[in-house]
Amino acid sequence: MTNKLILNQAETLLPTEWGSFILSAFTDDSGDPMPHLALRHPEMDPSEPVYVRVHSECLTGDIFHSLKCDCGQQLDAAMRIIEEKKGAVIYLRQEGRGIGIINKILAYKHQEQGMDTIEANEALGLEADYRDYSIAADILESLGIKQIRLITNNPDKIENLTAHDIEVVERIPLIIPANEINRAYLETKKNSMGHLLK
Ligand SMILES: [Zn+2]
Repeated sequence: MTNKLILNQAETLLPTEWGSFILSAFTDDSGDPMPHLALRHPEMDPSEPVYVRVHSECLTGDIFHSLKCDCGQQLDAAMRIIEEKKGAVIYLRQEGRGIGIINKILAYKHQEQGMDTIEANEALGLEADYRDYSIAADILESLGIKQIRLITNNPDKIENLTAHDIEVVERIPLIIPANEINRAYLETKKNSMGHLLK
């Protein structure tokens, strides 16, 4: 992983549907058009374990509310929690589990022909997951956060953050009811990728 220094390049107060949050952009390059983002409650207290969602960008789910996954609904649910619990969302620019939007669209095309999400990536010569959470750990550290209550269904995230010196004191599950379209995808996440969907 990169050893470059991730810096808080700019921040502002952002009013949202859920409440007002401090939005910060993190990157090692002030000209970076796609910095990682952190959204935190103005009264977040890093001396206590902080409710944190580490969310990897999913343009189709987060922006277009695609029914092929549950990312947008997970982000919305996390926003509600961080407003209530004075927490933070770390938004990482690793679209499509790190394969990028073009490969993701190609993978969706394969899925139309009956492959699951893992098989579709394999057909493209890609691995199922390229996500790296060490940047999230760097961002948390720069916000003064050492202990978190992680809002996730993904045990890999807990392991990965723990390996980067963030103490996960509790896991907060996000249970999003499946729809007819994403049911198979959620089953794959549960059965082949170890997600805890109960
Ligand atoms: Zn998604």
